[in-house]
Amino acid sequence: SPGTPRTPHVPDSYVRVRDAREHNLQGVDVDIPRDVLTVFTGVSGSGKSSLAFGTIYAEAQRRYFESVAPYARRLIHQVGAPKVGEITGLPPAVSLQQRRSTPTSRSSVGTVTNLSNSLRMLFSRAGDYPPGAEHLDSDAFSPNTAAGACPECHGLGRVHRTTEASLVPDPSLSIREGAIAAWPGAWQGKNLRDILDTLGYDVDVPWRELPAEQRKWILFTDEQPVVTVHPIRDADRIQRPYQGTYMSAHRYVMKTFSDTKSPTLRTKAERFLTSTPCPVCGGSKLRAESLAVTIAGRTIADLAALPLSELAGTLNGTSEAARVLTEDLTSRIAPILELGLGYLSLDRATPTLSAGELQRLRLATQLRSGLFGVVYVLDEPSAGLHPADTKALLTVLDRLKAAGNSVFVVEHHLDVMRAADWLVDVGPLAGEHGGRVLHSGPVAELAAVPESATARFLFDDSPAPAREVRSPRGELKVGPVTRHNLRDVTAEFPLGVFTAVTGVSGSGKSTLIGEITEELPGVGRLVSVDQKPIGRTPRSNLATYTGLFDVVRKMFAATDEARQRGYGAGRFSFNVAGGRCETCQGEGFVSVELLFLPSTYAPCPDCGGARYNPETLQVTYRGRNIAQVLDLTVESAAEFFADTDTPAVTRSLTTLLDVGLGYLHLGQPATELSGGEAQRIKLATELQRARRGHTLYLLDEPTTGLHPADVEVLLRQLHGLVDAGHTVVVVEHDMAVVAGADWVIDLGPGGGDEGGRIVAAGPPGEVARAAGSTTAPFLARVMA
Ligand code: ADP
Ligand code: ADP
Ligand code: ZN
Ligand code: ZN
Repeated sequence: SPGTPRTPHVPDSYVRVRDAREHNLQGVDVDIPRDVLTVFTGVSGSGKSSLAFGTIYAEAQRRYFESVAPYARRLIHQVGAPKVGEITGLPPAVSLQQRRSTPTSRSSVGTVTNLSNSLRMLFSRAGDYPPGAEHLDSDAFSPNTAAGACPECHGLGRVHRTTEASLVPDPSLSIREGAIAAWPGAWQGKNLRDILDTLGYDVDVPWRELPAEQRKWILFTDEQPVVTVHPIRDADRIQRPYQGTYMSAHRYVMKTFSDTKSPTLRTKAERFLTSTPCPVCGGSKLRAESLAVTIAGRTIADLAALPLSELAGTLNGTSEAARVLTEDLTSRIAPILELGLGYLSLDRATPTLSAGELQRLRLATQLRSGLFGVVYVLDEPSAGLHPADTKALLTVLDRLKAAGNSVFVVEHHLDVMRAADWLVDVGPLAGEHGGRVLHSGPVAELAAVPESATARFLFDDSPAPAREVRSPRGELKVGPVTRHNLRDVTAEFPLGVFTAVTGVSGSGKSTLIGEITEELPGVGRLVSVDQKPIGRTPRSNLATYTGLFDVVRKMFAATDEARQRGYGAGRFSFNVAGGRCETCQGEGFVSVELLFLPSTYAPCPDCGGARYNPETLQVTYRGRNIAQVLDLTVESAAEFFADTDTPAVTRSLTTLLDVGLGYLHLGQPATELSGGEAQRIKLATELQRARRGHTLYLLDEPTTGLHPADVEVLLRQLHGLVDAGHTVVVVEHDMAVVAGADWVIDLGPGGGDEGGRIVAAGPPGEVARAAGSTTAPFLARVMA
């Protein structure tokens, strides 16, 4: 009625999730406020990702695709919606997570950030052109277009050449003995040999004894003479004379390399090629016309090779005409510098970046997207970030929020948790012992939740108790190293102790430890325990990787039932025909291709994920069939096999329990394991081996993806290895871990050209007081 003001409609400002059951989630109900920073916490395997990514992000994705691509509905249906009763108040979501996709080799920092496009525009519009030259289109500054690519190397920057040494690795062999390794095998190789023989070349003297001009002709000629070959009698088989065409090894290798559709042949051909910078463009990938255009006296290739921190400075104060464009560029570079990535250059290929670097790069790029009202979902953006840069990360997250977005972050870093407006703690433990929301509310209120593992670490900042550092048994000298940003660096790694290598992102830590090899005196065996997946298909899993499955299959084959049916151990493998389900060929899943989306797996329509055919599943061991055994968690498998007198199985399961993986299922596909889980499986596999002699264990940021409670478990294992006489070297940002090391090597002080030096080396107590070390104040904070 007139006169009464209408109450404005206030939308409910929460994302409300009801009855979430994805993976281990136990019918979770949770309300999360929009437009603030929410951090999801909990031990590894508790269900944080299942909630943030598997439920909330997946549901937002599904709704989005249903609205824009109705034709994809059937496929989406097949993949399945997340198992959740209802979600209300859900905005569109953007994920910045880097899930092991394989970026193409042409993708670079410049393309990921879109900065390359802007720089090209700048060169096109405001570059200094040679007198009389026409202005070029911005395409002409891209090596990925016909207009810009160097005609010699097609925009690759390198050319492939063959040399006598690459084609003939062992010149003491005769041609008949296979001197020309680059030749094809089988009949074709014999054919070429017989042609040379017919042409009068000596195919029975060592290669090096042939005259130089003959060697040159045989390997490099472009001629293709045709001769009548009378094949040498081969194993009593008489062959008819035929017309054979000669092709030099060089020609054969180049032709195979550029024409073949077979990846195997191409890889083989590549072995005989050496790659050198393109002589025409000098490796810059661009045409001469494009390289003639400069800004501040530099070509676009020069600028793309500069660290971003320097690029910003170079662009500032260039021509007035280009002011708008340069201002745009520098303002977009600024957040990248803020996030501690100023040492990267535009031409750096993305496959050489770490997952953390790539995610922060995307984050910096998003700040300029102008999107609002979306949920950004991030997975551990602090991974690989030095504590000195954490504040900057929080500032950037704040800015996304201030622009009117919700920010959901799965994190283990205590400083990020403390900065949250809202905290969702999942737990209390992993797998079936987790999957509940223990707390959803302001951070401080978590203190009142006794069963939360997170609370134990978040509210206890008493310094680590002082401990005695171990004394080294010797020393491993590495270097002098000159590589990437390291210049003539020599490092001494003490043997028989726990060493932490520290320094800001880009300071050179990975480069330095990459120089540790088994050839160095004192190393003995070298084991690198990384976070790379244990397999790339659902065919590998925990049980196959650890060798446990071999024993289990033999146990099934030894049952009376299997023996009556004549089933051997192979029958219980899902990797070979016989016992497996043929529809999915034992994968349990079928791959579904979705337009715009990476391909996904859906459960096999025939076996429903069991992987085996019905006959195989009729055989049971202690009341369980093979699929049911694969479905056991490590923990329940340890009980199931407890009294079976199979030491190999017991050892394997015990070590998996020791590294905190009791919640994983034996058959859990490699594709579903996180990087941290993969790393701990590798560590467990390593631990179950009988160890002889000294081993050096190398771990690059082993705490990535791990909750402080998981870190404790991991450290117990690593220190156990040192106590058993081995050496452990970790690259680490977690100061609690560094404080517990026996020795610290700190690189820096900055990233890129501002780093690459050893700033301090010594026991943690000493490094914590070192002047000029970026790490020192943060280390001091956690030390007693
Ligand atoms: P977090 O993010 O807390 O480390 P996750 O949400 O990744 O935990 O995992 C929770 C549980 O769900 C774990 O037991 C994990 O092994 C299991 N899990 C994760 N992904 C899958 C999957 N694709 N299929 C089946 N189980 C899974
Ligand atoms: P950290 O491990 O301390 O983060 P890195 O050893 O990865 O540092 O990097 C040190 C320097 O070397 C950085 O300037 C980085 O950009 C550069 N760098 C690292 N890997 C490569 C590579 N594959 N190609 C070119 N430069 C690299
Ligand atoms: Zn070239
Ligand atoms: Zn199947």
